[in-house]
Amino acid sequence: TSIPTIALHDGTPMPQLGFGVFQVPDDGAQAAVATALESGYRSIDTATIYGNEAGVGRAIAESGLARDELFVTTKLWLTDLARDAVRPALEASLERLRLDAVDLYLIHWPAPATDDYLRAWEGMEEVRALGLTRSAGVSNFLPEHLDRIAELGGTLPTVNQIELHPALQSHELVSANAAHAIATEAWSPLGQGAALTDPAIVAIAQAHGATPAQVVLRWHLQQGRIVIPKSVTPSRIAENLDVFGFELSGEQLNAIDALDKGERIGPDPAQFNG
Ligand code: NAD
Repeated sequence: TSIPTIALHDGTPMPQLGFGVFQVPDDGAQAAVATALESGYRSIDTATIYGNEAGVGRAIAESGLARDELFVTTKLWLTDLARDAVRPALEASLERLRLDAVDLYLIHWPAPATDDYLRAWEGMEEVRALGLTRSAGVSNFLPEHLDRIAELGGTLPTVNQIELHPALQSHELVSANAAHAIATEAWSPLGQGAALTDPAIVAIAQAHGATPAQVVLRWHLQQGRIVIPKSVTPSRIAENLDVFGFELSGEQLNAIDALDKGERIGPDPAQFNG
């Protein structure tokens, strides 16, 4: 399988489809990531708070893949939202991952009760300059948080990883990302499975001889978004990557667009402060 890449605004190429490991325990993460890499995934999304960076690192080390064939993302947790906390936090992640650098480092949440995320962004720029991450981005940032970062006058995040699935489409946020040339990465792209029983999606899947998960992933990909579906089941891991052999029509994309209910799975980033 050849996975398309998205050129981030700093020039870093990022695979448009990757593998997420939220809620996968450390020992399970090693097996799941090994299966994903054998299936052909080349991008892995983890986070400090997931507690499984070491398992991800073991799978990477044992895969035999060259470092430049892989794209690894991890995230800064809220307890480290301070300029001088970013570098030690990333160095600890790198040690667990057994890497010299990640490809993408994200501020996990803005926690906007204070301006700490702005200071953390300055730390993100430093670790990028040091080469500890190739690219620096954010997660769960709302348009006002992106505007505050823009006002700092430095660099802008390359990626905003946000909750995005058929029941929560956040059009204004996606537009705000695009206005800043920030790539939109969808977390819980399958709505943690909830999207897959929707009758409209099931009907589109039948029309293509595809599965509902494959249809939802196509809906994201055809609109230029990065996706990181998660599964620990080998057949589903392979299924979620096998999405480059068919295309949804404009009408089918519209039918999925019509399923937006503004319904979140995770916390509201405006309210979540850890
Ligand atoms: P997801 O939308 O990827 O759904 C995963 C679940 O969907 C699986 O556990 C399984 O139950 C089901 N599923 C997966 N493939 C399937 C298939 N082919 N057929 C049927 N069912 C299938 O949900 P997620 O894990 O929450 O999100 C994906 C990734 O996004 C995470 O692993 C993590 O890396 C990232 N994430 C980031 C944040 C953040 O705050 N930045 C929050 C949540 C998740």
